[in-house]
Amino acid sequence: MTPTREVFFNIRHVWVMYALFAVTLAIFSYGFCRHWQRWSRGLPASRTDRPWQRLQGLLRQTAAHDRLLKRYRAAGFFHLLFFWGMVILTAGTTVVFIHNDLGIHIMQGAFYLYFQSLTLNIFGALFIVALLAALVQRYVARPSRLKPDHWQDGLILILLLTILLTGFILQGARIQLTRDPWGAWSPVGNVAGSLLARLFGVDGLRQLHLFTWWFHMALVFGFIAWIPYSKLMHLLTAPANIYLRDLEPRGALPLLDIEKTEALGISRLEQFSWKDLFDLDACTECGRCEVNCPANISNKPLSPKWLILDLQKASRAEHAAAPTPPPNPEEPSPLVGPVIREETLWSCTTCRACMEQCPVMIEQVPKIVQMRRHLVMERAEFPDDLQGVIRSLEARGHPYPGSSASRSDWHKDLDVHVLSDKPGQSFDVLLWVGCAGAMNDRSKSVTRAVAQLLQAAGVRFAILSREEKCTGDPARRIGHEFLFQQLAQENIATFDRYGVKKILTSCPHCFNTLRNEYPQLGGNYQVIHHSEFLQELVASGRLRPEATALGKVVFHDPCYLGRYNQVYGAPRQLLDSVPNSQRAEVPNWSARNALCCGGGGGFSFMEEKTGTRMSHNRSRQLVSTGADTVAVGCPFCMTMLEDGVKTVSPEGQTPRVLDIAEVLAQAIMQNPAQEPGR
Ligand code: SF4
Ligand code: SF4
Repeated sequence: MTPTREVFFNIRHVWVMYALFAVTLAIFSYGFCRHWQRWSRGLPASRTDRPWQRLQGLLRQTAAHDRLLKRYRAAGFFHLLFFWGMVILTAGTTVVFIHNDLGIHIMQGAFYLYFQSLTLNIFGALFIVALLAALVQRYVARPSRLKPDHWQDGLILILLLTILLTGFILQGARIQLTRDPWGAWSPVGNVAGSLLARLFGVDGLRQLHLFTWWFHMALVFGFIAWIPYSKLMHLLTAPANIYLRDLEPRGALPLLDIEKTEALGISRLEQFSWKDLFDLDACTECGRCEVNCPANISNKPLSPKWLILDLQKASRAEHAAAPTPPPNPEEPSPLVGPVIREETLWSCTTCRACMEQCPVMIEQVPKIVQMRRHLVMERAEFPDDLQGVIRSLEARGHPYPGSSASRSDWHKDLDVHVLSDKPGQSFDVLLWVGCAGAMNDRSKSVTRAVAQLLQAAGVRFAILSREEKCTGDPARRIGHEFLFQQLAQENIATFDRYGVKKILTSCPHCFNTLRNEYPQLGGNYQVIHHSEFLQELVASGRLRPEATALGKVVFHDPCYLGRYNQVYGAPRQLLDSVPNSQRAEVPNWSARNALCCGGGGGFSFMEEKTGTRMSHNRSRQLVSTGADTVAVGCPFCMTMLEDGVKTVSPEGQTPRVLDIAEVLAQAIMQNPAQEPGR
């Protein structure tokens, strides 16, 4: 006898089930088409290229739950059970359909025993465990990231739990009533059947099976029909959103074609791309983005989760309303202000922590910056603190007080190759100093340390000195795309004039913009951060650090070095290369999870007027490691954290804040053969 089972045991009038299923599909399709129409209103975006790379990423995030298991691991693990439970049970239902409705008899033999009976039983039971864990998390543990509760959250969990339990009741009753010889291959159903047989007897069990079968079907069909009208929609949109993720360099904001565009920035929903609109419906409301957001943690009026949900609500409400006349650019924005407040947009440091945490790869930062573009370029509205910065960038090509001539102050007593002085002299790498490195007193000593280390290693480098202009990073993050493009084009012309191919910089913001954003405007160079460059010099033996009084050291990951460019190892290896150094990490808050210092997105030039200080929050974490030295790799982190650690450290226990170049320069000075500047 071949192992199998009867699909419609004890059921008559099966046509009713098919009729109900047709109604279910119609309701589902109507709801789904409404979403599709809404997404189609967005502008074009290319997100279907490189299918193999997209598929690999999709599998990593779904089958392996890569991101979900990196933070809040217990929740991630139970979600993994949930996911696989859903996948395996859906596969089991598909097998029944193929076997019964298509007449391809696969539900039999070993496949029936091992997959359709045993595997489905195990995954069904694990699914129940995951649902119970989700209920405990949501209603007992109640982490703040999941608040506030929505009536759908509990209903969805109870609905799924009921579907699974009724499934086991049906299976148990059938095993008992048919005296199924292979019942033991479905262990959970088998045990359930034995208990039910004792409780109900044979006749009662038959009635129970009949009632439960229709109840179970009604719940399943109701569940499917409800998907497009509820939070369940993310079951479809979340994996699709991962597949459609941005594969361009992480650090590149969307380029605005200023010549062709009609609107500077985004002030209405339909000015977003279709992918931006799709993003809004992929949110699972898990709150992971919110927990790592420095603005949210410091009580600023910004939650990346609610930014997405508010846009989602507006998108759905607008579509449900009667058709509106074509937008009139003279009218005030129905989006920036009424839906997303200006203060919300000006609270973001563009640190990318939200995007790094989001398990479904929603893209908050480009949306925020594109709405800022509308404020800055269309409405000329931005925080007062930024007025001087923008004026200075426009007039002098840097955001600080003082003329461009002061860019050469830091190297007056150093013998460095300035390209304009000796244009024909060859060099291996251009040292891009950056505005902070050239004009901020504290950062100047970092630039000197870098230059002296390069000299000690015998690297042939050159600088632009007064010919260097801001890369345009602050202008772009603030939303002044026009100014960014102007500055970038001027710098690209200078690079071309001198035949620059390789650029070294100690500023992660310059590093990111030169590396990832200049190619958008035709500037393609090999760009390297000083942490990587110096680490290579140490690894190759050209720099040989000796022991110093560094003590315990903790590295603060700059957002634009780590999250944007995935450089996590080099600065740590550099610190480890100093003999006798002892390195600490901030538990749960380092590398990709590092909390932003609060210096990006224009914040280095703005006062924090609401909430607590972001730099103090990060400093508290760093100081809690008991480190003697906080090592940084960014001039803005230096400014923010020097102030922060002074404020939050217990008296007499303030750690030093040093750039990794300064740490290395001190260690090199201990080696008489390699003293910097020799
Ligand atoms: S980029 Fe940073 S500050 Fe901005 S919303 Fe995301 S986590 Fe918050
Ligand atoms: S945006 Fe992403 S991380 Fe934030 S709540 Fe939605 S799904 Fe979760």
